[in-house]
Amino acid sequence: MSAVLNLNRGNQHRQYTPTLAEHWDDLVGWEARLEREGHFYARLLKAHGCRKVVDVATGTGVNAVGLAQAGFEVTATDGSENMLAKAQENAAAYGVSFADSRVADWLTLDETLGTEQFDAIVCLGNSFTHLFDHEDRRQALRAFHRVLRPSGMLVIDQRNYDTMLDHGYRSKHEICYTGDGVDVGPVELTPRLAKFEYRFPNGAVFQLNMYPLRQDYLTHLLEDAGFINAERFGDLQRPYDRREVDFVQQVAFKT
Ligand code: SAM
Repeated sequence: MSAVLNLNRGNQHRQYTPTLAEHWDDLVGWEARLEREGHFYARLLKAHGCRKVVDVATGTGVNAVGLAQAGFEVTATDGSENMLAKAQENAAAYGVSFADSRVADWLTLDETLGTEQFDAIVCLGNSFTHLFDHEDRRQALRAFHRVLRPSGMLVIDQRNYDTMLDHGYRSKHEICYTGDGVDVGPVELTPRLAKFEYRFPNGAVFQLNMYPLRQDYLTHLLEDAGFINAERFGDLQRPYDRREVDFVQQVAFKT
């Protein structure tokens, strides 16, 4: 299998076809990733007294499952039915269940989830960079804000696009997408588009279009949507070297 799925920019969760959903777990490197990231997010959420958490970019469930295993009440949402179906399979395989699981677009998350309010929202694994339009980002963050209880926490994790744009791509492959034998990297990188290619050991090749969100711009968007006290971690640590880290985690709170 070597057909490249070359995908459009509109409605980015449509990029996650059933075939890509099937391959995603090989890219994620579940065990290593849960071992490294799971504890970080669980500690962060516990430190802020969070219990009810929505993973709004559940994908095939690596973080949603990890948080459920750590005792959180997890609502799993994603814009892609294909990815969410795989997440439910994975949750069952790991012996956990989600408090709720819904197909939900970020732009209308509050409409899908109704009036229930949550202690925290996580949007991990370089997901928020799937939005290409400034107004869509503002709308999504305002929807996230409405879903949180007062003082609720939002966590967004994404690639360090600043370094990629300013100094070129390189990766330690230690955080996030660490699957064995999967070759990941940008095939196109401009200030408006990061087209990533994923080459799997079985010959399958996929491409995903992302928007290279800079760190300061994301902080500005968070503040614009009403979040305060934004803090950053780099590769799950603080302080961090802005140029050296592969992934950046931003944490902010509802006013
Ligand atoms: N967090 C998972 C992980 O780390 O493995 C999945 C990450 S994957 C890069 C991005 C996920 O975001 C996909 O499952 C995709 O369907 C979802 N997504 C992209 N745009 C979305 C949107 N507008 N609303 C809801 N989900 C969206």
